This record gives sequence, C-alpha cells and structure tokens, in this order.
Amino acid sequence: MKMKGFEYLEEELQEMKEYGLFRTLVPIESDQGAKVVINGQEVLQLSSNNYLGLTNHPRMKEAALKSVEKYGAGTGSVRTIAGTFSMHEEFEKKLANFKHTEATLVLQSGFTANQAILSSILTKDDVVISDELNHASIIDGIRLTKAARKIYKHVDMDSLEAALKESGDYRKRLVVTDGVFSMDGNIAPLPAIVELCEKYDALIMVDDAHASGVLGRNGRGTVDHFDLNGRVHIQVGTLSKAIGVLGGYIASTQAVRDYIIHKGRPFLFSTSHPPAVTAACSEAIDILIDEPELIERLWDNAKFLKDGLRALGFETGISETPITPVIVGDGAKAHELSDKLLSHGVFAQGIAFPTVAKGAARVRTIVTATHTKEQLQEALHAFEKCGKELGII
Ligand SMILES: *Cc1c(COP(=O)(O)O)cnc(C)c1O
Repeated sequence: MKMKGFEYLEEELQEMKEYGLFRTLVPIESDQGAKVVINGQEVLQLSSNNYLGLTNHPRMKEAALKSVEKYGAGTGSVRTIAGTFSMHEEFEKKLANFKHTEATLVLQSGFTANQAILSSILTKDDVVISDELNHASIIDGIRLTKAARKIYKHVDMDSLEAALKESGDYRKRLVVTDGVFSMDGNIAPLPAIVELCEKYDALIMVDDAHASGVLGRNGRGTVDHFDLNGRVHIQVGTLSKAIGVLGGYIASTQAVRDYIIHKGRPFLFSTSHPPAVTAACSEAIDILIDEPELIERLWDNAKFLKDGLRALGFETGISETPITPVIVGDGAKAHELSDKLLSHGVFAQGIAFPTVAKGAARVRTIVTATHTKEQLQEALHAFEKCGKELGII
C-alpha cells in the first residue's frame, strides 16, 4: 500500500518531469577514472572533480588499506570527545605546512567547513560581504550567522568597494569569495580583493575547493597562485575534489583553529574521518609534492579540450581553468545534450536552475590529468555530432 502524505511533493516532481528537469542519479559501476562504466558501457568521464586522478592512484589505495589494517574502519566519536586520532593532528600539521599557514583544521567536508567557519566567527555586530555567485555551502553558512549580509556583483570590484564603503560601522567585515567559481571556471580577482580589503581593513576568506590541487605551486591554491601568502585570513579547501578523497579544511591562524574546535558546530557534533580517509588525504599531499607533472598534464588537457570546444563554435563562457562549461541556455536542452553525449560514449552532466541561473543551463566538463589526447579528441567528435544534431552549433 502506498503511504499517503507526500502528494504535494509528487505534484512538484510531476511538474519537473513535464519540463524535462527531473533527473535520476547516474550510478557508476567502476572506479572513478578517465573512463567509467555506466549501464554496463565504458564511457569517457568528463564530469568528475577527480582533477589529478587521485581517487584510484595506487599510492592512495595503499595508504588507505594500510591504515584500515592498523586502525580499523571508523573512529567511533566526534573529534572533541574521543575521535581525534594522532593521524588527524599529524595530517593537519602537514597541511598547514603545505599551505604556509599557522594552522589548519579538517572537517567532514568542504560544505561543513564553510558552515563551521561562517556560522561561528561572526556576531550581529559584524557583516559578511559575499560574491553573488559563491558556492551554495557559503550561502548556507551565511544563513547560519547573525551577522549582517551584503552581496556584491560577481567579481565586480566597484560593487565590492561600494559594499565596503557602506559597512564602516560594523565591528568586523568579512569578504568571502570562491577562489575558482565552480560553474563558470573563472578565477576570483584575488589581488584586487586583497588590495580593497587591506584598504578598508576587512578580513578575507577564500573558498578554494576547485583550486586545491589545481592552482598555485603544487596545487596550493589561488592564494599561492597570486603570491598572496600571508595576506588572506582564511582559506577553505576541499579534500574531496583534486585531493581525491573526502573532507574540507580551514587553513588560518592557531586562534581560528582553536576557536572552531570550541564553536564550530559541524566539528563539534559530527564524527571524525575514518582512518582510511585521513591516511589517503595525507598521501595525496605527498603526491602533490612528488608528482607535479600531474598538474602540468591537467592544464595541458584543459587547454586542449577548451580550445577544441571553442573551435567547434560552442559557447564556453569565461572559464580560465579545467572547468569548461558548454552553455546552451535552456535547462531541458542541456539535459538533452548530456543524454545524447552519453549515448555517444561521453559522460558530461547537464546543469540547470537552481544550480545555475535560469537561461544559463549548461553541460559542464572537467578534464583530468589522466585523460589521453585521443580520448579528448573522441570527446570533441561526440560534442560536434551531438551539438549539430541539436542545433547548438
Ligand atoms: C565542491 C565545493 C564545496 C564543497 O566541498 P565538499 O568537500 O564536496 O563538501 C565547497 N565550496 C565550493 C566552492 C565547492 O566547489
């Protein structure tokens, strides 16, 4: 018998189906590589955040396996009670050293890292000033603070300066930006943001989820990329994308670390990472140091695919990174292009409202270091064929 009560949700889902916006999850039946198995078919993966191919790197797997043998599958507690293992703290020290910051604190995910920092360090006497296209986890983190909020136009420094000028009466001003914007692949104008924040004595926070392992020396992120070490107060990074595992971290001062340990609710009330996660993340940092050629290959592949898509006549927006959107406008059309690509052996997800603005739906591609030029050429052929069939190019 069908349970009653959720008819109102079913109605809304039905509407989404009518507009071609209803999506089912796509289960992957293999490991996460340049090629993956979907529905029993091997297809090119162009949608993962596995920039450097670390998810299944032999050294990562070995580190995870060894730690399971020695420390088990789980930790059994939150960090603040009985769930801090020595490996957690050793990894945080390694990460701080890597990031050239005084301290770091690792959280369950990048999402919760943003929640922890934004919900805890500001009060009603403060204001947070945020780029309008910042990631959902920043937006949700801001929803949890009692601080006043101001939104500035996307990467618009006049708009940011206006917000700073209007907010002189607050105790603290925190300017927040994505380092790399996840849907368009453009890089935040960090040098200009830092100049403005120094002029107006504001704190700066950069969320480097898509820059961790991608930009800066050995993948240290946008702050290092722009030579701004020591001038950005808070860096949030993720261990879930290029690092290939799971987690998020806050890289800042010892005071910020100590404060989040006492006040960051996701840190306080949710269990710590299993040993396999921490061991693999730690190994990933060593790989970033030992194998800088992975990052070189990533950027080389990114240029190849981006140039190819542009040459075919696709609209790829303002991307400067390995994230290359193919903007088609209509949400249903983006999903149609994605479905067609899959039937031609390329997995590239359509992304529509509310993840991106209405009318800016896209198929978003992300290349990895592990794709071969031949594979990327195959992908370009599939894009050409499908794009022509749908009248996009
Ligand atoms: C992906 C992403 C996050 C979330 O990171 P997870 O570790 O997957 O939770 C946070 N911020 C930005 C900008 C992201 O792109």
